[in-house]
Amino acid sequence: MTLEEREKELRKIKEEVLKCKKCSLCKTRNYPVIGQGNHQAKIMFVGEAPGFWEDKTGHPFCGAAGKVLDELLNSIGLERKEVYITNLLKCRPPQNRDPKLEEIQACTPYLERQIEIIGPEIICPLGRYSMKFLMEKFGLKNEIQPISKIHGKIFEVKNLFQGIKIVPLYHPATATYNPKMKETLKKDFQILKQFI
Ligand code: URA
Ligand code: SF4
Repeated sequence: MTLEEREKELRKIKEEVLKCKKCSLCKTRNYPVIGQGNHQAKIMFVGEAPGFWEDKTGHPFCGAAGKVLDELLNSIGLERKEVYITNLLKCRPPQNRDPKLEEIQACTPYLERQIEIIGPEIICPLGRYSMKFLMEKFGLKNEIQPISKIHGKIFEVKNLFQGIKIVPLYHPATATYNPKMKETLKKDFQILKQFI
């Protein structure tokens, strides 16, 4: 796909999400968060769902967890604009509660299209909900374990057109209240260095 074609397809997703009512989160959201970054990114990060600030602005990871994510990206010489960042759910769950199964089912067709359009070589789920969804999607259901066991591991999958690597990571929000977690995340990010 040319860059123009990608932009056109991603614009379509944006328009659909802006008026989406496929799950009840549409009733409480301010702005949905579609995604941000390079439309030809080699690496895609998939968070969980918008939080307070993301819901206010429509931008992914713009609060405390976003600061951590930027620091992690910078630690391997990457900037936000070089990667693509999105979420499993495009609208904020009230009080940042965990995503519900029916919300994941309703919303993830958007994520699947984003993956298809952008065609990343490496996808990093951030946190257990994105990890579970993406590992199931890419045929890794039998390899699913608690994120404490498989964070920073590289899972190679072949789809029709190209190989994709899934690298599950802890959610950066965990590092906002646990400095040890930040060290673990930093170490895991070093694994991504070989791919950039
Ligand atoms: N947490 C997420 O999972 N996604 C965001 O965009 C912000 C915080
Ligand atoms: Fe639609 Fe997803 Fe928002 Fe639910 S979370 S209303 S499915 S965009």
